[in-house]
Amino acid sequence: MKGISYRENGTVVHNEEPPPLTTEQLDALPFVTEVYERDLDYLKYNSPYCQYPYVSLYTGRGCPARCTFCLWPQVTTGHTYRVRSVGNVLDEVSQLKRRFPKMKELFFDDDTFTADPPRAREIAQGLGKLGITWSTNSRANVDRETLKVLKDGGLRLFVVGYESGNEQILKNIRKGVSVERARRFTRDCHELGILIHGTFILGLPGETRDTIQETMRFAREMQPETLQVSLASPYPGTAFYDFVTKNNYLTVDSLVDETGYQKCTVSYPEVSADEIFKAVETFYRRYYFTPRYIWKSVKKMASSREEAKRLLGEGVQFIGSMAKRRRIANTTRKGVAQPETSAQA
Ligand code: SF4
Repeated sequence: MKGISYRENGTVVHNEEPPPLTTEQLDALPFVTEVYERDLDYLKYNSPYCQYPYVSLYTGRGCPARCTFCLWPQVTTGHTYRVRSVGNVLDEVSQLKRRFPKMKELFFDDDTFTADPPRAREIAQGLGKLGITWSTNSRANVDRETLKVLKDGGLRLFVVGYESGNEQILKNIRKGVSVERARRFTRDCHELGILIHGTFILGLPGETRDTIQETMRFAREMQPETLQVSLASPYPGTAFYDFVTKNNYLTVDSLVDETGYQKCTVSYPEVSADEIFKAVETFYRRYYFTPRYIWKSVKKMASSREEAKRLLGEGVQFIGSMAKRRRIANTTRKGVAQPETSAQA
């Protein structure tokens, strides 16, 4: 059978990959929202960047980009963006209001929904007619004309993987989007009223103490609505994993600790695992605990009771998770191995 892996005489065998599913085959699959309606209480789920309550689905799978750290296309979804037809997507969306009457937002969780701009525009035009508010994942390289069509079609927010504010790191990870391109994209989004949840990663190849500061400054310049800062995780099967193992930058085998919290498992000559780990919290604090951000949040809370409840909940959760992160780091720090060349905090 194509596409399966198995162990034979102690060796892992990978069978030949099957051809990617065609649009016709994807359209023939049942709608996932039928299953949600039957088995899932969508009111029990929340997202830090979507309006509550929200529903999430895929219009396609795969991402043509080549980011070396990214698990999805390299290990699971592949580099060919296989998509459902526009009509099939709109057909499912048109049933959402009936299925989920309280839904405030729809999230398209495709790796990169904007990878096919003409299709994204066509879907947006259909969504506009349906009166749906929606959000999705995007790279920071969409042209302004497309952004305008998406916004007119009800787009509220993009989740954007900026990853780093350092040009060389972006080249090292084959992001395919320069700092300057990301700036232009972000400016266009701000001008058109498209919100951004910006995601950043600390500990990518080429990271130093200076590049961490540079990325923090870049995030402040981009002014995303909300922010996510992750530790670079070298997942087996990715080019990033090969890079860190080959260069002896991997400090420990497990990516998470015993409670499920993400650990920093890479350490470089210029910046240690411990420093990278600590920088995540500094990053959040410098972004969120500023008069400008606090004032913006107060205004949002004043505008809606639900938004106030959501933001307060997020705030409490954030403070709690940072405290837990510090506790875990303090108890496990002695166990974090550092290569001899790594700088210490
Ligand atoms: S663009 Fe996003 S989904 Fe695609 S490879 Fe890069 S990080 Fe992964």
